[in-house]
Amino acid sequence: MTVSELYKSCCDALSENGIGNAENEARFIIQKALRCDQTAFLLNKGAVAEPFVVDRAVNMVHRRIRREPLQYVLGEWDFFGYTFKVGEGVLAPRPETEELCSLVIDRIDKCKAGLTVFDLCSGTGCIGISLKKTLPLLDVYLVEYSDEALGYLNENRISLGVARSVPAIKGDVLKGYEAFGFLPRPDIIVSNPPYISTFELPLLQTEVKKEPVVALDGGEDGLVFYRALAEKWLPYLNEGGFIAVECGDEQADDVAAMFSEYSGDISIIKDFNGIDRFVIAGKEKYDI
Ligand code: GLN
Repeated sequence: MTVSELYKSCCDALSENGIGNAENEARFIIQKALRCDQTAFLLNKGAVAEPFVVDRAVNMVHRRIRREPLQYVLGEWDFFGYTFKVGEGVLAPRPETEELCSLVIDRIDKCKAGLTVFDLCSGTGCIGISLKKTLPLLDVYLVEYSDEALGYLNENRISLGVARSVPAIKGDVLKGYEAFGFLPRPDIIVSNPPYISTFELPLLQTEVKKEPVVALDGGEDGLVFYRALAEKWLPYLNEGGFIAVECGDEQADDVAAMFSEYSGDISIIKDFNGIDRFVIAGKEKYDI
């Protein structure tokens, strides 16, 4: 069987089993099975697919048909130009969150060395690690509650070469900055916290339900983390600093209202689908 034939049969199996975007997913699966990138895949379509490559691909297709998220099946996912390990027990990085990273980078005063950044609810670490890789002068701290997520986070810190420069702290963001008083005061807080309301959890897509509840559940109204960020973190930002968060559909106004109790400089920004997705609040005069 050639690589091309293997690709075609993976594609057919995925689409016959109701996976949208089967062509793209099949390509990712074949590339993973061959351990190659897209260019090598395109150049080697006529080559023979070794039996172990076929086995790997078939195994991944079966997992995908059982509605495991593609990112879990592949075991890694590219985010902001870096490859993050991902799997059961941690939220898979999403493209919207790459936009959050860009927004933060755009707003940072790049001339200032040593700005302290907290990535709260860091999961795989995709946000904080990408920021550190892009702007190495930042002092980035990752805070995560789940031990399973911390496992991936630590693997990613190692594989991306920031194990020494970016500490990972186990802790509960809902407790607020005071519970993390051993850390310096932040200049920048960035977070993509759990934001699905508890009652909406059962309605999620099958794939998303395979992601950890702890990474999705934002409490009764979906806003419990934003409330904590507003009340228990934002007031501790250094002056001139800011907080930038991603939120769920139709949450941006509520989040902005919570932040406006502690900031007079609020922006709501749309994602690439035109949905209000990010809220940024600057810290001016208020202080503890
Ligand atoms: N910050 C991580 C991400 O955006 C994890 C977020 C979470 O667990 N809710 O992927």
